[in-house]
Amino acid sequence: MYECDLKRMDEKIKTFSKFGDTGNGGITRFSLSPAAIQARNEIKARMTKLGLDFKTDDLGDIYCTLPPTQAAGPGETEPGIIMSGSHCDSVRQGGNFDGILGVLTAMEMIETIVTKKIPHKHPIQLVVWTNEEGALYEPAMMCSGILCNKFEKDKMFNSLAKDGSGITFGQALKKSGFKGDISNRINPAKTKGLVELHIEQGPVLEEGGFDVGVVKGVVGMINYEFTFKGQADHAGTFPMPYRKDALFAASQALIYLHQEFDKLADSDLVYTTGKISCHPDIHTVIPDEVKFSLDVRHADPEIIKKCVKIIQKMPKEWANCQMTYKPDWTRETILFDKKLVQNVQQAADQLGYKSHVMYSGAGHDAQYLSEIVPTTMIFVPSKGGHSHCELEYSPSEWCWKGANVLLNTVLEIDKQ
Ligand SMILES: [Zn+2]
Repeated sequence: MYECDLKRMDEKIKTFSKFGDTGNGGITRFSLSPAAIQARNEIKARMTKLGLDFKTDDLGDIYCTLPPTQAAGPGETEPGIIMSGSHCDSVRQGGNFDGILGVLTAMEMIETIVTKKIPHKHPIQLVVWTNEEGALYEPAMMCSGILCNKFEKDKMFNSLAKDGSGITFGQALKKSGFKGDISNRINPAKTKGLVELHIEQGPVLEEGGFDVGVVKGVVGMINYEFTFKGQADHAGTFPMPYRKDALFAASQALIYLHQEFDKLADSDLVYTTGKISCHPDIHTVIPDEVKFSLDVRHADPEIIKKCVKIIQKMPKEWANCQMTYKPDWTRETILFDKKLVQNVQQAADQLGYKSHVMYSGAGHDAQYLSEIVPTTMIFVPSKGGHSHCELEYSPSEWCWKGANVLLNTVLEIDKQ
């Protein structure tokens, strides 16, 4: 079994944590911002120094390719590319691991192959997807989404920065100097597989004492918007029995939903109301319209169906207010490539690491890419489960173990 270099891994994490440093242990590195350009330039400098070919596509996605050192097997006229990477942008006051760790471990994996002169038959490629977070230019997973025909390129290029600057994603990309040719995009026919390493962003691996997560897929989810219509009246003069308080109605319905979902007694089921609006949002006025979101996730479509039934069977009247709801969007559970999942498992076993087979509860670029190329993911534990915040942390040794699993997974794929 090969191993990466722990010191080099640590240095990479520390160096990249300077690009967009908030001074509080985290980073703000919006896609195509000056901090992101610094990170991109550093990736380019390091990879070209190692002798890799550097290219970007028309979306600014980065591809750095290490050519094979050995001839392909008899059946393979043109050996397929083995890809690994993630994203280098972050949310506002995010951490030093989400996304970037997948880039840095792929860089460390490639550096190990180069410096140890490990023979391989396939091109090995670092990939950095543009604008995964969608924190400045919505939506999230923008460029992997364009590549996989989820979003229209023109529409995405017109996505306006949320900072009020009036700049579009397309303008920022042009200015960045990282806009390349459309012909450089990932070519599924020439790609053997994609492995994305990512932090878990939850507490399961750390609590179970696991070194790595073997990711089977991404859980399915449903999103609903609920609306409650009441009557606005004076908060001081209107007696309680006559009121149609939309916020009071919504709060009761929300508690009902939690209680009903709890009755399913499934510890893998998660549900969240993270967005709420209250009209007119004035402390002296009884609210007349309240909306809230509901996000429900589980890998088993049968459990999701049960949740939909609970929603459909809900009373339509709450505290004298009318309730309506509409599904916003859904995602089916995505299963990663079985063979690649096995390769990750085998690499972890052979390294003597304690691993845990799990689903990802969050969306990742790999989820879209899995529709066009064989794909899988590796999770590294997150301390305390924290993510998308400055507390996000995975000790370098944990990251290095993840890199070792990635390295041996890639070398195993290379044998096939
Ligand atoms: Zn991420």
